[in-house]
Amino acid sequence: MDLSYGPEYEAFRQEVRDFIEANRDRAPKGAGLRDPATLEWQKLLIENGYAARTIPREYGGYGAEPDILKSRIIAEEFARGQLSQGLGGQGISMLVPTLLEMGTEEQKRQFIAPTLRGEMVWCQGYSEPGAGSDLASLSTSAKLDGDEWVVNGQKIWTSTAHLADWIFCLVRTEPDAPKHQGISFLLFRMDTPGIEIRPLVDMTGAANFNEVFFTDVRVPKDQIVGARGQGWAVANAILGHERDSLGNPDATLSRLNALIELMRHETIDGVPVIEHPVYRDRLMKLQGRVLAMRCNDLRVLSSRVNGTGGTGLARLINKLQGTELRHELEGFAVDVMGEIGLAYGDNPYLRGHGSWQNQYMYFLGLIIGGGTSQIQKNIISERGLGMPREPKIQKG
Ligand SMILES: Cc1cc2nc3c(=O)[nH]c(=O)nc-3n(C[C@H](O)[C@H](O)[C@H](O)COP(=O)(O)OP(=O)(O)OC[C@H]3O[C@@H](n4cnc5c(N)ncnc54)[C@H](O)[C@@H]3O)c2cc1C
Repeated sequence: MDLSYGPEYEAFRQEVRDFIEANRDRAPKGAGLRDPATLEWQKLLIENGYAARTIPREYGGYGAEPDILKSRIIAEEFARGQLSQGLGGQGISMLVPTLLEMGTEEQKRQFIAPTLRGEMVWCQGYSEPGAGSDLASLSTSAKLDGDEWVVNGQKIWTSTAHLADWIFCLVRTEPDAPKHQGISFLLFRMDTPGIEIRPLVDMTGAANFNEVFFTDVRVPKDQIVGARGQGWAVANAILGHERDSLGNPDATLSRLNALIELMRHETIDGVPVIEHPVYRDRLMKLQGRVLAMRCNDLRVLSSRVNGTGGTGLARLINKLQGTELRHELEGFAVDVMGEIGLAYGDNPYLRGHGSWQNQYMYFLGLIIGGGTSQIQKNIISERGLGMPREPKIQKG
């Protein structure tokens, strides 16, 4: 098996490496979403074609012809250099590709460029207290009143709602239609009167998600993506992009490289942890699984390059494997640090600002967010392996 991409692409790889080395110091170090350093870095990446690479220039992207191998090389090199490949989040990773596929021209022009620049932050209003895995049971309603939708109801687990400028939100517009056909996909500002946000503290100690209440929230009629009652198709397009972004094998590879460095520095009785056979054994097992994920990703890649298709199953595996593997990898790093692994908050002995402990807990959440592991297994078995579908309760 030849895993090299050929001379033209290796020259491109060198270009990316040179960029990384020349600009490494400008990369933000754990800075927040709105931090000027983060926004500057994002701008630099877009200008050089390392973020928003194939998004047309008229929508604020770099405008390159799609070349899957070049995109792949960029991802690999940024992971290798342990450098941020710019902003992600629900706006950039999920809404932008969906708007490109399904938005109107006006929506593309209004929303994509500021989202890519990090100036328009989005949150995702899907889950409700009575609708999580069974999302189509959602009951937040939107009724048309003249030129406006009037939204009432509640969302829950809404990540970054407290930071977001806008929300993409699933609402029920046809209460009498079968449940999958009565849903619409609305976009509206988070400072619209009638929206109340209540933070929910998660196990990391931070309030990363929220409850969001809507009381007579008025939304212009044309702020809908797709046709009225056809929001389920838009919702599913978003979920596909979400699954891809949550199980990212490049980010996992980057963390594996950081873990190896950590194991070289931490010691047990004066000997680096990486030389300890029990820890090496655990590292090898994790490394094997990270490489298996990378091969899975290459399988998807080569099928996309050759246009052979048939990678449905390989893509579905990503979210399930990626989030569970990442949780284990971060947990292993906590073990590697021994008693320092138990430190948290502002403890002066923390390694990497406590990111290992934080990510260990955060990725436990991501095993649930974007569809739980159990639901991913259902999808893999039914759509990927063609096994019998589970009984639909609503059909008796
Ligand atoms: C960190 C995090 C961030 C999130 N961010 C967002 C966000 O930004 N926006 C948003 O809308 N939502 C968000 N969510 C919510 C997330 O999408 C839901 O938690 C998830 O879909 C599960 O729904 P639920 O919590 O209602 O659990 P339930 O659906 O009630 O599931 C409870 C348990 O039953 C199992 N189960 C349910 N149905 C089946 C089945 N058919 N077969 C087998 N097992 C089943 C589930 O796997 C789970 O273990 C986030 C969640 C987390 C943890």
